[in-house]
Amino acid sequence: MSRRPFVAGNWKMHKTASEAGPFVSELAGRVPAGADVAGCVPFTDLATSVEAAAGTALQVFAQNMHQLPQGAFTGEISAPMLLDLGVDGVLLGHSERRQYFGETDAALAEKLSAALDAGLDVILAVGESEGEREAGETESVLERQVTVGLAAAGDQVVTIAYEPIWATGTSRTATPEMAQEAHAFIRSLLPAALREATRIQYGGSMKPENAGELLAQPDIDGGLVGGASLDAEPFLAIVAAAG
Ligand code: PEP
Repeated sequence: MSRRPFVAGNWKMHKTASEAGPFVSELAGRVPAGADVAGCVPFTDLATSVEAAAGTALQVFAQNMHQLPQGAFTGEISAPMLLDLGVDGVLLGHSERRQYFGETDAALAEKLSAALDAGLDVILAVGESEGEREAGETESVLERQVTVGLAAAGDQVVTIAYEPIWATGTSRTATPEMAQEAHAFIRSLLPAALREATRIQYGGSMKPENAGELLAQPDIDGGLVGGASLDAEPFLAIVAAAG
């Protein structure tokens, strides 16, 4: 089965709503019809981004959400709130959320289940730290993050983003061979019925210069792009490389 490539930009905490509107309009106007492309934007940019992307192939994702639909959780946002805005999906488990905001695999499993139940698409980010890779723990870390994170997904397909932490937001990139090895391992962890349908994005300093050889690997089905998604030209060049 050939999987359709899926490229998502992760803006992190960049761009005000006033900046997001014209930027999303430009991207939305240039993303090829029928391509799977998304922007994971800050909460304050969601409404303006949904409006600017309406009727185009560009999807709008949030970068986080709470697992409960409502309640006394000051500062949090729920799946129904995202749906009501017209948001397409949510990125869960980014390493910065895990590292700086204490996101656990168990909490992520609840978030993932709540997002799917609400009808949102999900990108689940996983990846090992430099210390874990050096200690030979890459596979055990990925196994825990994937199996616990997807525990409640049942037969629903989510996108997985493999983002080695040592290559994320740095100038270092995993070699295509290292990335392919991790992607194939992640795929082997999935239930047999979902294995061929699940898209696994690579994330970690993906740029127009290295996207082609990463995306040529058999188990790399797209990219989660941080820094290079903040400007239209490099991001659209990566989208073009994904074909
Ligand atoms: C990310 O943090 O999701 C990411 C992929 O960042 P960068 O592309 O800047 O390494």
